Amino acid sequence: MILGALEAGGTKMVCAIGDEHGTIRHRITFPTTTPEQTMPQMIDFFKKHPIEALGIGTFGPADLNPVSETYGSITTTPKLAWANYNIRSAFADALQIPVGFDTDVNAAALGEASFGCMKNIQNGIYITIGTGIGVGILTEGKLLHGMLHPEGGHILLERHPSDSYTGCCPYHNTCFEGLASGPAIEGRYGKKGVELKDVSEVWELEADYIAKALVNYILILSPERIILGGGVMHQEQLFPLIRKKTAEYLNGYIKTKELENLDSYIVPPSLNDNQGVLGCLKLAQQAV
Ligand code: ADP
Ligand code: ZN
Repeated sequence: MILGALEAGGTKMVCAIGDEHGTIRHRITFPTTTPEQTMPQMIDFFKKHPIEALGIGTFGPADLNPVSETYGSITTTPKLAWANYNIRSAFADALQIPVGFDTDVNAAALGEASFGCMKNIQNGIYITIGTGIGVGILTEGKLLHGMLHPEGGHILLERHPSDSYTGCCPYHNTCFEGLASGPAIEGRYGKKGVELKDVSEVWELEADYIAKALVNYILILSPERIILGGGVMHQEQLFPLIRKKTAEYLNGYIKTKELENLDSYIVPPSLNDNQGVLGCLKLAQQAV
């Protein structure tokens, strides 16, 4: 089955052609400018290949409710040209094929659940820590949607006593994203994360916030594995710090075989940054 995938991001659109086995055959990236400019480029690309269905994983928030009138729209995004734009309908109309639709981070979680390190797991979470923070939740083998979709990057965290940064979330200031996203690191220290690689206090504080968020997710969702991806997590020294602090904050309260081995519990993505595209292929297959 030839399937299309679109990982729709605020800065770039990754379009790919592949199949239900997770083989990616072609891939092309377009900058995300306006729908008027970017949509025709993507539609042209997909028209060149005989795809049976398309799967879209989008930045959001997005309307994922299939019975809603605005199903398939990107809703309140700060990328104003795309606010209230129905990206799913635009592709369904232009290509006349089934179109699966979910958030970018749910797509990444689905990619890992279908082809990667959550393959044999029924309950897991995928967190991306980049320009924003997103959380995709697999629960009892399915992606969790609820009334909209989880927005786990915006859970409220307490500011660390040593931290005076006001936080960069325009809605909540000091939510997880406001304190620990890539822009939060840059806002706090005046330099990009990648330039702060050797400053240990940066990663101690970052790991502290991430661990606090993980403890909340662990206690509420009881995941069997946690995957941490996104640009900030390219700082690999974060992993051991996060594992240590997560154990400290849980403080022995719950005991499971997963928590006994944090090295295989809190892990990086396993699909070479293809998890989003692969999840979109799965969304396409599910739409057929
Ligand atoms: P996006 O979230 O926009 O899709 P990324 O996941 O790459 O893209 O996230 C970009 C953010 O992550 C930026 O704030 C950037 O400064 C930060 N970032 C990217 N690479 C690194 C790195 N190697 N180390 C630390 N921070 C990084
Ligand atoms: Zn927020």
